[in-house]
Amino acid sequence: MDTRSDQSLQQTDVAIIGTGPVGLFAVFECGMLDMRCHVFDALEVPGGQCAALYPEKPIYDIPGYPRIDAALLIDRLFEQAAPFAPTYHLGHAVTGLERVDNGFVVTNAAGVRVAARAVVIAAGGGAFGPNRPPLEGIEAFEGKSVFYLVRRREDFRGKRIVIAGGGDSAVDWALSLAELAAHTMVVHRRAKFRAAPQSLLRLEQLYEAGRVELVTPYQLAGLEGVDGRLDAVVVADLAGNTRRLEADCLLPFFGLATQLGPLADWDLVFDEHRVAVDPATCASSRAGIFAIGDICTYPGKLKLILTGFAEAAVAAHAIHPLVHPGEALHFEYSTTKGVPGSA
Ligand SMILES: Cc1cc2nc3c(=O)[nH]c(=O)nc-3n(C[C@H](O)[C@H](O)[C@H](O)COP(=O)(O)OP(=O)(O)OC[C@H]3O[C@@H](n4cnc5c(N)ncnc54)[C@H](O)[C@@H]3O)c2cc1C
Repeated sequence: MDTRSDQSLQQTDVAIIGTGPVGLFAVFECGMLDMRCHVFDALEVPGGQCAALYPEKPIYDIPGYPRIDAALLIDRLFEQAAPFAPTYHLGHAVTGLERVDNGFVVTNAAGVRVAARAVVIAAGGGAFGPNRPPLEGIEAFEGKSVFYLVRRREDFRGKRIVIAGGGDSAVDWALSLAELAAHTMVVHRRAKFRAAPQSLLRLEQLYEAGRVELVTPYQLAGLEGVDGRLDAVVVADLAGNTRRLEADCLLPFFGLATQLGPLADWDLVFDEHRVAVDPATCASSRAGIFAIGDICTYPGKLKLILTGFAEAAVAAHAIHPLVHPGEALHFEYSTTKGVPGSA
């Protein structure tokens, strides 16, 4: 199939699956070699594990940053990729990959189709998706007053918040958001929480000081509100007794499920659920498909952000001849070449 005449297709040089730190840096590395990118993520915000799992934790092993919060690292990577004007397709998992004459067509769950010469899989442990509580009509509230991850604490200032869950994420976010929320309630189906001892101690202190309300042993039972705006969260105990918690936001922390999903069906060679690549190029077993970051493996692979950054550079150089056939690639430092818009 020649995709150039298909109007419903968006065209690019490289399709990157995953906007984790490594996928974002791949945009920069491809851009430096004059390759345009479309980038896909199942999550609505870029940042992969950094954004979804530990945005406010400091990272200490990013070269040049003695300490940087994970969310800030993502902001910086986003900024670094911006001069190359990538197109982001967020909030929908990539579901399809089709081989075509001049590359691949990548499709996501929203039906977006992008034709690219090469595909870079930077999918980490797989597509992130929240474990949703089975509440009727919850979809209408998602992204407006029900959130499965906290992107910016400030968004919750002055709000009445219900946090649901009994693990580290629920407890850590209760401690953090209680500092700025109008009222913080934590709903858990057991009286005992499972979190780090230090965090539990702090939760107890906030409870005693009246800064956090512990709603146990209760489970989520329903949502009240209109047009996605929450008025109250209804909870029930095992005997079926219900309580109505007036609230502006619900944050269910029942874990994020990762799914390799369609990647598993793309005829790639896997080694213990990771895409096996040649470390000299990050090429997978299928020509034109590359894998970098946590999703790839080779002898001696370290699952670190800095390793993924180097893999992004390696893959970009290996992809260049596919996008610009016959063009010699002259290795240049960024100090020599600059970036678009730099002086
Ligand atoms: C608590 C914690 C602390 C950590 N601390 C450090 C540290 O100090 N230093 C360090 O170097 N590393 C640390 N790590 C590991 C680091 O976060 C990972 O190595 C890094 O996030 C890998 O980046 P990535 O871009 O490869 O993948 P990820 O960050 O996992 O991002 C992959 C993205 O791909 C998306 N995706 C997957 N499949 C699809 C699909 N089919 N369609 C659309 N999107 C898809 C996912 O939704 C996700 O957003 C830590 C990890 C955790 C959990």
